[in-house]
Amino acid sequence: ASEGQKASFAIPTDLLIGENWVGASSGARIDILNPSTGETLTSVADCDAAEGIAAVDAAAAAASAWAATPPRRRAEVLLACYHAMMERQEWLARLISLENGKALGDARGEVAYAAEFFRWYAEEAVRINGELSLSPSGANRILVSYQPIGIALLITPWNFPAAMATRKIAPALAAGCTVILKPAEETPLTALAVAQILRDAGVPAGVVNVINTSDPGPVCSAILHDPRVRKLSFTGSTEVGRILLREAADSVISASMELGGNAPFLVLDDADLDEAIEGAMVAKMRNAGEACTAANRFYVQRGIQDRFVAKLVERMGAMKVGPGIDATTQCGAMINRASIDKIERLVADAVSRGAEVRLGGAAIAGDGFFYPPSVIANVQPGSEILSTEVFGPVAAIVPFDDVDEAVALANATEYGLAAYVYSGDLKKALQLAERIECGMVAVNRGLVSDAAAPFGGVKQSGLGREGSHHGLIEYCEAKYIAVSW
Ligand code: ADP
Repeated sequence: ASEGQKASFAIPTDLLIGENWVGASSGARIDILNPSTGETLTSVADCDAAEGIAAVDAAAAAASAWAATPPRRRAEVLLACYHAMMERQEWLARLISLENGKALGDARGEVAYAAEFFRWYAEEAVRINGELSLSPSGANRILVSYQPIGIALLITPWNFPAAMATRKIAPALAAGCTVILKPAEETPLTALAVAQILRDAGVPAGVVNVINTSDPGPVCSAILHDPRVRKLSFTGSTEVGRILLREAADSVISASMELGGNAPFLVLDDADLDEAIEGAMVAKMRNAGEACTAANRFYVQRGIQDRFVAKLVERMGAMKVGPGIDATTQCGAMINRASIDKIERLVADAVSRGAEVRLGGAAIAGDGFFYPPSVIANVQPGSEILSTEVFGPVAAIVPFDDVDEAVALANATEYGLAAYVYSGDLKKALQLAERIECGMVAVNRGLVSDAAAPFGGVKQSGLGREGSHHGLIEYCEAKYIAVSW
């Protein structure tokens, strides 16, 4: 097999608890749908709270040996995980497309991004450096080392089934923690396949455990109330994030939260139009808009507005919509019917308030869950689409006159994850970037995600950072020793 094409294996559909793949004791299963057809692909074991605690037992049994594994050895295992995923890039991409619906090109990109966390954290695992200083009084030394925080519960969403898992697993393992992964009910197969790949690449039994449940509330609550669990890392909606923060509070568990976004995409009059369109296509259409970093609101300065809208309509209108696994598809399926209903509701609301549909604007009938690339111009203030994550291929466009107005509009949201700024004047763009209340800004670029950069939000978009050295420290506790010598 050539690079990226290594032969597949039978995809596990049970729970990975310690050494073994086990079915749920109740025999319950969760059906997994193919969003491109509406058909059932297969089913996975549906665990209860007791099985969640069994996963904690397995993570606890493996904890001390993994924490004591020399950093170089941990790094070697992580690097083997990177290669093992990339050897199966094509196979994993097809699996992601099947259960998530995204276009194969998007899925291939996701696998590369997902695997990269293992390579990055292989390099970080041997650089968990402490600090040594003299206390201000001169009486003693202050010695600080970073220890693994302990067992981590990782809860991930369906939009990036591989990358959201590896973005948490890789730093946790680099830090010396053992984990329990609970993927989204919609897309567990990718996580299960990745777990098998990690085991084959040398991750010891119990270091990574994977459970699935149709009832995440009670199962995750039981795990978070087990005193052995010391970390929660969650990616998902702000609504569920709030619930989990309350749960984590009971046992004072460290929580890293990647929550919803509502990214503004600002285009100034002096922007290079072609570059802005290129960036808009990535920021809006990567993953068919199903990303928390997706451009949700386009604020376009009046002088460039008509040309920007015309060009965006042309480019988005040329995209081929279809099943993710068709090689020619550029815009895949949405995850489910509810997602289509939400997009329809947001578009209808915007239109009822005076917005103009320039492209698309209606779901595609059929068994799969398809919504076409759509452009809605002149969206009026107060439209729900400006305050709610669309999570679909709809570009909502609002004109503005001056930069202060654009900043005020960009900041008029409870969210603060990503933002995009296009201007030919770098000084102006950087000044603007500093004024936008968010964790990440892409300047003259349509993509922020990078394993080497701190990903995360401010305001109600979350707490903590993933990726980079920051992401590693989230899985460590600083241990301070005062020593006189
Ligand atoms: P989305 O809107 O993207 O589906 P959710 O926040 O609903 O995002 O889901 C993200 C993840 O959170 C999924 O793995 C889901 O199973 C899980 N989840 C949902 N509700 C709860 C809960 N009450 N406790 C723990 N996990 C939950």
